[in-house]
Amino acid sequence: MSDPTSPTGTPVVPHWIDGRERASTSGRTAPVHNPSTGARTASVGLADEAEVAEAVSSAEHGAAVWRAFSVARRQAVLFAFRELLNARKDELAAIITTEHGKVFSDALGEIQRGQEVVELACGFPHLVKGDYSVNASSGVDVYTLKQPLGVVAVISPFNFPAMVPMWFFPVAIAAGNAVVLKPSEKDPSASLWMARLWQEAGLPDGVFTVLQGDRTAVDGLLAAPAVQSVSFVGSTPVAQYIYETAARHGKRVQALGGAKNHMLVLPDADLDLVADQAINSGFGAAGERCMAISVVLVVDSVADALVERIVDRIARLRVGDGMPGDESEPDMGPLISAAHRDAVRGYVDVAEADGATVVVDGRDLTVAGREGGFFFGPTLLDRVPTSSRAYLEEIFGPVLSVVRVATFDEGVALINSGAFGNGTAIFTSDGGAARRFQDEVEVGMIGINVPIPVPVAYHSFGGWKKSLFGDAKAYGVHGFDFFTREKAVTSRWLDPATHGGIDLGFPRN
Ligand code: NAD
Repeated sequence: MSDPTSPTGTPVVPHWIDGRERASTSGRTAPVHNPSTGARTASVGLADEAEVAEAVSSAEHGAAVWRAFSVARRQAVLFAFRELLNARKDELAAIITTEHGKVFSDALGEIQRGQEVVELACGFPHLVKGDYSVNASSGVDVYTLKQPLGVVAVISPFNFPAMVPMWFFPVAIAAGNAVVLKPSEKDPSASLWMARLWQEAGLPDGVFTVLQGDRTAVDGLLAAPAVQSVSFVGSTPVAQYIYETAARHGKRVQALGGAKNHMLVLPDADLDLVADQAINSGFGAAGERCMAISVVLVVDSVADALVERIVDRIARLRVGDGMPGDESEPDMGPLISAAHRDAVRGYVDVAEADGATVVVDGRDLTVAGREGGFFFGPTLLDRVPTSSRAYLEEIFGPVLSVVRVATFDEGVALINSGAFGNGTAIFTSDGGAARRFQDEVEVGMIGINVPIPVPVAYHSFGGWKKSLFGDAKAYGVHGFDFFTREKAVTSRWLDPATHGGIDLGFPRN
């Protein structure tokens, strides 16, 4: 399909509907870039209302077919998907690096964490089997059925084009639902690759649909009567909008939003370990992780020593094109877009104007041979005022802000005063302090000497406050609860001996 606004010869990324590619006919597209070069590599078709309706209708058909599959047949498809994903993850990682920019090894890490959820879902029979109570009353049995919802929607952000969709779709599909995935329009190709993989694994057509698009597609899904639930991950304002709108349409909804994650460093922590972890968690994926550490809260007495160690490590970081073959083997790639790079720069400017010290300045970094890329160098700010917008808001870039505190209590109070509650970490060798920390912080996911405490697949992922709207977290037992609905059945097989005859009263023991 030709796209008049895109450079000649660049492809247009299609939808995946009913088991095949379907070119968008809306006439609207968005550009897709390689952030390392800045070049536009593709366009993506943006669904209109008719395309949303077509996708949902195909998913309705897929849901009806799939829920009738036996547990054993569903499980076979999931195991096949897991094997194919594991065998061919390099292909997917290359797509992620090309469209997102994170380095190849990090893209493989993202896939690994998504694959964990696929592996959890392979064991789904145990999680959807329900309960059974024999003889709850004489001759009466009570049991629960966990049934699929039907068609469920997943709306995902740009920063994990494979892992975040995999937080939801393996669980939803294992539970017998059909999924319509609306990926980010900034890096849409990973979803399409995963759709093809499902087909190879034997999933019936219509059970996994990819609907490319922007707000029009999202609004269509939110309003579609056949869509039973919405799982969203993205920025807080959009998460709140999704939560309110989906609820108004009577849907089940889980909407994960933004973050501003702090690590608290006590004087008894191993400062070399802390400096390594601050670097890894602050600058991995160029800071474009919802669980990235953004603020280093450090007790005054060790603050200078820690800052010195972080500076020393930043000097050793290599920034560049993360595709294998780049001789520099970079640690960190570019940001997703020129606009986002400019927004990150804006936050560093604001912090400086508000009185922070720019200890390491990544604002003017360029990468030789990749001058058009959306690079931003690792940046370290010290003494960031807690009244600054740069402290209060999510930056989502490679910027670590050091804030010095006098005590543990001051650190915890700062963490709890924030709008977000996604992740946090404490670094200490004092078990009692760590124990108090986990009890007192108002945050959903906590690391103790662990900087990015993303729970493993059999626990569940979710923050507090403006980091999660709704009460259902992603994956784990929460995921299976979200993607099923229960029926409680009370059953008695009548026979003359147990039937009590006419009695208009409420049943008694
Ligand atoms: P985003 O909110 O801009 O977009 C997320 C999705 O919503 C995309 O599919 C996009 O097409 C769609 N969308 C955007 N604007 C919309 C609108 N007005 N109406 C309806 N749909 C809309 O987020 P992003 O920039 O792609 O991702 C980065 C954000 O996601 C960060 O804030 C990050 O913290 C957050 N995030 C959170 C988690 C978490 O688990 N809490 C995980 C990953 C990312």
